[in-house]
Amino acid sequence: KKSDLGLIGLGVMGKSLTLNLAHHDINVSAYNRSVLGEEHVAKDFASTNKHLTNLQVFDDLSSFVKTLISPRKIMLMVNAGPAVDHVIQDLLPFLEEGDIMIDGGNSHYHDTTRRIDLLNQHSIHFVGCGVSGGEEGALKGPSIMPGGDKEAVDAVLPYLKQIAARDQQGKACCTNIGLQGSGHFVKMVHNGIEYAEMQLIAEAYTVLREGAGLSIDEIAVIFKEWNQGELKSYLLEITADILMVKEGDVHLVELIYDAAQQKGTGGWSTTSALEVGAPFGTISEAVMARCLSALKATRVEASEHYGDYPKNPSENTETMIAELKVAYHAARVVNHAIGFEMIRTTSTEYRWDINLSELARIWTNGCIIRSSLMEQLVQEYSDNPSKHTLLIDSFIHQLKGERITLANTVAYSLQMGIAMPVFSAAINYLHGFTSEQSSAHIIQAQRDYFGSHTYKRKDRSLEDVFHTDWQQIVE
Ligand code: NDP
Repeated sequence: KKSDLGLIGLGVMGKSLTLNLAHHDINVSAYNRSVLGEEHVAKDFASTNKHLTNLQVFDDLSSFVKTLISPRKIMLMVNAGPAVDHVIQDLLPFLEEGDIMIDGGNSHYHDTTRRIDLLNQHSIHFVGCGVSGGEEGALKGPSIMPGGDKEAVDAVLPYLKQIAARDQQGKACCTNIGLQGSGHFVKMVHNGIEYAEMQLIAEAYTVLREGAGLSIDEIAVIFKEWNQGELKSYLLEITADILMVKEGDVHLVELIYDAAQQKGTGGWSTTSALEVGAPFGTISEAVMARCLSALKATRVEASEHYGDYPKNPSENTETMIAELKVAYHAARVVNHAIGFEMIRTTSTEYRWDINLSELARIWTNGCIIRSSLMEQLVQEYSDNPSKHTLLIDSFIHQLKGERITLANTVAYSLQMGIAMPVFSAAINYLHGFTSEQSSAHIIQAQRDYFGSHTYKRKDRSLEDVFHTDWQQIVE
């Protein structure tokens, strides 16, 4: 029997996606290498899913490929990096012109663009496909972000749309993102936004716990309450759930070692923002916060040397909590604006023409950053796709009032000795973004002083550049 789609790599994501495909009546062949002396992943998977008559499982690549309808469509769900290149090389001898590989892992978008070009030389298509939603999303309906040659993306879209999550209108959370590595690019920025969203909740938790002195149960109730309205998000919801889990009398979170791990996409999004010169404060700070958290032993030592910070607790906890809620909303809007603007800048640079409204739409379900705010963004970007930024066009009335509260919340928390990297980055961005006069005139003068880098003048044409022999004048 022939299969519509093949999938390579029966790890966490591969297994779930294969089952999702099979559950949607798509004939699917799955392959996992069998490494000598290791457990037989393919055989185990086949025996657990014997009841699925539209599923075939292989540990031999040649037999696997023979079961696929031409042009073959083969999804790779292997670890990002060299594993993808290995699998491509292993597969190539079995493929024919017009066949399509789909890389569903978290590959770097530059790698994807390189692989598209490489496979082009063999007349084989390569689709770089972001998949978000974790193991459960992959099984029940993820958000899917394919990018690459239009012909290839169009050929695989019907299958991907069937297994994707549905938005509020019932449309699939899957769309053709654009050319080259654009699918993997938006997945990478998605993860960057996710890093900052997670860190904002972690910081808000710490303010409530250490600043307001609330119990973990009380914080769970507050997060549940916030999650009823416009702050509703998947990440807030799961955090409220997490806070309710206990082992005996102890909350499990209190037992979890406080050093965050990361797999790379957050860091990649930060270096990618630098490549196009896009401000990326909330996201880069979220990445750095994870790096700092990982220095656990040094932090412990430093905390002993420095001792307790002299705290000045708020007299009115109710007001403090209410203000934190407002600040959290403002910081989230800024974080999304930063992420989406970075996508716009990069999309312009590479001429990908990414549709931001459509992107927000496929992020309203299935993915980790789904939220009420994301639903709002679908509308905001569709009303005016060329909007310069959400902060000017969409949220100005709210943010004008909220920014003072955001600044106050950050100030209060810092005075309480609580690190607020992402909340701080949000207010810093907002203050900087709304300043007619920045501090960069001082930077330009310094650069010209030590490096003769020249400067432009406000009172002359911006076409002209100037240099001053600063040292000589001062002397
Ligand atoms: P796992 O580690 O669970 O599985 C990796 C799979 O790749 C295994 O089946 C492994 O086979 C196979 N593999 C690795 N190297 C090779 C190779 N050289 N040749 C053939 N097969 C190979 O990873 P995940 O399923 O978690 O992740 C897969 C991809 O999806 C990654 O890029 C990840 O970043 C991305 N992703 C993961 C998410 C998650 O929540 N886990 C969410 C979204 C994306 P073997 O068993 O033989 O080692």
